[in-house]
Amino acid sequence: MKNEKYNIAIIGAGAAGMIAAGHAAELGSRVVLLEKNQHAGRKLLITGKGRCNITNADNDLRRMISMFGKNGRFLHHAFGRFSNKDVVEFFENHGLRTKVERGMRVFPASDNAQKVVDCLMKYLKDNNADVKFGSPVEKIITSINSRNKTRIEKVVLRNGEEIIADNFLFASGGKSYPRTGSTGDAYKWLKQIGHTVIEPNPALTPIIVRENVVKQLAGLVLKNVEISLWQTRKLDSRFGEALFTDNGLSGPIVLDLSKNIGKNMADGLKIRIDFKPTLDYPTLHRRIQRDLDEQNNRHFKNSLNKLLPMKLIPVIIELSGIKEDKKANEVTKIERKRLAQLLKCFELSVKGLVGFEAAIITSGGVDLKEVDRKTMKSKVIDNLYFAGEILDIDGPTGGYNLQVAWSTGYLAGAMNFGSEDS
Ligand SMILES: Cc1cc2nc3c(=O)[nH]c(=O)nc-3n(C[C@H](O)[C@H](O)[C@H](O)COP(=O)(O)OP(=O)(O)OC[C@H]3O[C@@H](n4cnc5c(N)ncnc54)[C@H](O)[C@@H]3O)c2cc1C
Repeated sequence: MKNEKYNIAIIGAGAAGMIAAGHAAELGSRVVLLEKNQHAGRKLLITGKGRCNITNADNDLRRMISMFGKNGRFLHHAFGRFSNKDVVEFFENHGLRTKVERGMRVFPASDNAQKVVDCLMKYLKDNNADVKFGSPVEKIITSINSRNKTRIEKVVLRNGEEIIADNFLFASGGKSYPRTGSTGDAYKWLKQIGHTVIEPNPALTPIIVRENVVKQLAGLVLKNVEISLWQTRKLDSRFGEALFTDNGLSGPIVLDLSKNIGKNMADGLKIRIDFKPTLDYPTLHRRIQRDLDEQNNRHFKNSLNKLLPMKLIPVIIELSGIKEDKKANEVTKIERKRLAQLLKCFELSVKGLVGFEAAIITSGGVDLKEVDRKTMKSKVIDNLYFAGEILDIDGPTGGYNLQVAWSTGYLAGAMNFGSEDS
């Protein structure tokens, strides 16, 4: 089956593919967007726990870029062309009101990721981009052009339909959360056509610990805690929100800490939770004493309600070794010290990381050395472009990763019109 010819065929209707397709169509290109799912933006819908942390409002672009480590340098041009401010302006101009929360994280005012997807779908429709759902690309067909360079001739869908275009943009994402459609399909095609793919690894993942005690705590959200990672010395430490899972810990600060845990990391890695980071030891000790004094004749087990969340109390009591039916005012100084110690330094041993199935982002991907940072064009294949998570860039939580998708997608979408300031 043969089809009409497009200027640009884009694979993947995620954040990067949608913005790229909309912008390309807006600029006048004939665009087709190919998505294997029956709907666009399945991953977008689960971002920010269904609220979609669209970007980060940091007004210092250099600092923002520094959050991506050494590969961040690749982003200077893309962030300059379509910055976090431009992203907010784009969505506001297209009818999506936004708000800024703690940590400069930007969300839709509606707290609803669906509104972000709807907004992008409208952008595509208004600009007449052709969107084909239920269209998994299974094969790419290449040829050699007159300059002896490989080019993509067409891509073939599962149903045999061939999509022919002048240029192709791979925005098919990484390998994380494969149930959203991001299954790393493009990596094998890329290797076949001579691109280098830096080994993809799960990043920003929940951490698995050895202690069974976490099962009892599963679902407990910890606000304003400090969690640090240790291996003979402190490797990293974060303040904010975390969450106990069935087999370990998750939540924003844990995900960010996980990047320190390589897959071959030696044993002996410990996590320490400080449940009361704003109180130093003496202050916490005095606070415990005051609470126990106030409770007077009550049982010790009923005297911690003001200090700790309910779910944590039985665990802390058991670990403290203090008899739960002891009278509050009979708890000794040594016992109070032990309690303070537990609250300041609740130690767990790291067993490993959850894999791609629960990783927020994929580290690794298309080698940035083989991509022109001013256009997102491949340096290996004549008519191929990239955008989004498929690239070897990953940042922390806080809206950074979607900013990569928007900026690189927007830039790649302008492919037929040059980069105005390049
Ligand atoms: C649970 C979770 C929460 C997150 N929260 C945030 C957040 O709040 N803020 C933030 O900045 N980042 C967040 N991220 C990261 C962010 O979602 C990604 O970085 C971003 O969505 C990547 O966009 P993308 O368009 O490059 O890829 P994707 O969103 O992965 O889109 C790729 C698309 O390509 C399609 N596709 C793949 N292969 C094929 C094929 N062969 N044929 C056709 N289509 C194909 C897929 O179905 C998919 O729709 C979160 C990630 C997860 C998993």
